[in-house]
Amino acid sequence: MIARAFKYTRASSVEEALRLLREEGDVKLIAGGQSLLPLMKLRLAMPQRIVDIGRLAALRGVRREGERIVVGALTTHAAVAQNPLLREVVPLLSQAAGEIGDMQVRNRGTIGGSLVHGDGAADLAAAVLALDATLEVTTADGSSSRPAAGFFLGPMLTALPQGAVLTAVSFPEPPDGARQVYRKVAHPASGYAVVGVAALLAMGPDGTVRHARVAVTGAGQAPFRASAAEATLLGRKPTPDLVAEAASHAGDGVEFAGDLYASAEYRRRLTEVHVRRAITDLV
Ligand SMILES: Cc1cc2nc3c(=O)[nH]c(=O)nc-3n(C[C@H](O)[C@H](O)[C@H](O)COP(=O)(O)OP(=O)(O)OC[C@H]3O[C@@H](n4cnc5c(N)ncnc54)[C@H](O)[C@@H]3O)c2cc1C
Repeated sequence: MIARAFKYTRASSVEEALRLLREEGDVKLIAGGQSLLPLMKLRLAMPQRIVDIGRLAALRGVRREGERIVVGALTTHAAVAQNPLLREVVPLLSQAAGEIGDMQVRNRGTIGGSLVHGDGAADLAAAVLALDATLEVTTADGSSSRPAAGFFLGPMLTALPQGAVLTAVSFPEPPDGARQVYRKVAHPASGYAVVGVAALLAMGPDGTVRHARVAVTGAGQAPFRASAAEATLLGRKPTPDLVAEAASHAGDGVEFAGDLYASAEYRRRLTEVHVRRAITDLV
């Protein structure tokens, strides 16, 4: 299908993008266009104007700022997958980015676009939840930092305020000795996660778990932290029985999503199995 006619403006600064978002009613930002353009072609989105932020160099790239790693919102999936600093410090982020779509999508799609789009099966959503990321957001009123936890509210629904630009995503250094993994069960046709599990585990000197993060995408109405699984692991030795017990709690309180390919019950089961395998990989 062909998108409805729209006006196009290339923003030369974040301030200009914010002004256009404020002044006109039906405006959409576009970054890599890998989610917005398909929606426009299906006429599920019909903005009157799109504001292209794709060439704002200040929003691109990876840098260290003190104790944190900062990834500009316009950094592509391919760059996240290949960046040496990210591969060293937050490898599960690079791993998740490397599993997105195909090379064309990874070369155009951006970390910011993926998180703001809010697809319930976005690979990077699980990664930012497991890594305790912070989202840097700018509105007409100024800039603020928001935790990734609580950002994903439902299918295509995030906590990004109206008229805001996501400028960067920042990551704390993981605890010493932490191990990380991203596991994805990809839909055979679309490649999206039927279930994707991001896990990070750090052990104390006595062999007990002192830090655990498990996040799941694709399975529920929105990506979520498997908090009950994390709590089950904390302070205990991760024996196979304990890992299985933790995984059995991964879906506690979650409304699983069902579709023609995978029922809600199947996704619940996949979640349990892949949380167990992810944690087992790490121990
Ligand atoms: C064939 C195909 C396969 C794919 N497979 C996968 C997959 O396996 N896993 C996966 O996770 N994703 C997949 N995707 C989606 C892909 O990751 C997109 O790149 C991503 O979801 C959107 O990033 P974008 O930069 O292209 O955003 P755009 O499409 O440009 O924008 C998406 C939305 O975010 C908003 N937006 C963008 N940037 C900002 C910003 N900085 N601040 C505020 N709002 C912003 C836009 O207004 C729009 O609403 C696939 C896409 C395609 C086309």
